[in-house]
Amino acid sequence: MKKISIVVPCYDEEEALPLFYEAVEKVVRKMDVKVEYWFVNDGSTDKTLAELRQLHEKNPNVHYISFSRNFGKEAALYAGLQAATGDYVVDMDADLQDPPSFLPIMYKLLQTGEWDCIGTRRTDRNGESKIKSFFSGMFYKFINQVSNTHIVPGARDYRMMTRQMVDAVLSLKEYSRFSKGIFSWVGFRTKYLDYQNVERVAGKSDWTTWELFKYAFAGIADFSQAPLNIAVWIGSVSFIISIVSLIVVIVRHIINPNTDVFGWASLVSIILLIGGLQLLCIGVIGRYIGKIFLQVKRRPIYIVQEKK
Ligand code: UDP
Ligand code: MG
Repeated sequence: MKKISIVVPCYDEEEALPLFYEAVEKVVRKMDVKVEYWFVNDGSTDKTLAELRQLHEKNPNVHYISFSRNFGKEAALYAGLQAATGDYVVDMDADLQDPPSFLPIMYKLLQTGEWDCIGTRRTDRNGESKIKSFFSGMFYKFINQVSNTHIVPGARDYRMMTRQMVDAVLSLKEYSRFSKGIFSWVGFRTKYLDYQNVERVAGKSDWTTWELFKYAFAGIADFSQAPLNIAVWIGSVSFIISIVSLIVVIVRHIINPNTDVFGWASLVSIILLIGGLQLLCIGVIGRYIGKIFLQVKRRPIYIVQEKK
């Protein structure tokens, strides 16, 4: 009998967890598979850990890893994938935004051997603000323009993968983990199932717009060097302009030496412009250096306090 590992990152999910567990159990009980759960408590501040201990008492196939503090969803997902032992591994959110009813469909599709991964994609963004949808649309357009790794718009992290693909994902040990990019970068044949957005059952999402922005930039910097190329372009263009204006100044001086008085205002503007562009480009380079800095320190991606 095949074994499915269900990996669930949890941050402050005490209310959602029991509902999640019941809903998933109801579905997998009807499937002809062994199931193990790997809940990852990502430094929750509520009773999530107590809830997980209880579930573990009730069902020995429920395992949990508890971090020493909040390391972020990507780290939690990584820890869960590392711990999972199944032939197939699923990544699900604890808030039931990922419908458990897809599990048998995903499993059946993977059994055909035609795919290595069955992912999910939201076809609409009900219950999300217009501005947020607009910016996420822009983000997908931009990153797919500048990155060689295709990021599927609206794709969720909810997916079922074969052992082979999970091992490939785990072989990418980068510190700054952008899962949407990593899943795509490793390749393999992925089929996407479409579904309508579902609101979370309990608790609230703590992604602020600003955090989503930072996440988007991190993703772009992790999977493309376009910002660096843009800096090179800005530099080249202003260099060419400066050469041309130098020639104009010299030629003018030769033709008519008496009209050399230029306005200081234009000079100040130009100095500010060039200075600003330089700082911008240095800033972009700095972001990449920051990423290198984090990577070379080789800090662990997460720290476990308790595991069962
Ligand atoms: N999550 C986590 N660590 C965090 C934030 C979130 O493990 O720092 C978990 C959370 O418990 C949930 C999943 O990641 O199971 C997705 O989070 P959320 O529902 O807040 O994000 P959204 O669905 O809005 O993208
Ligand atoms: Mg959610």
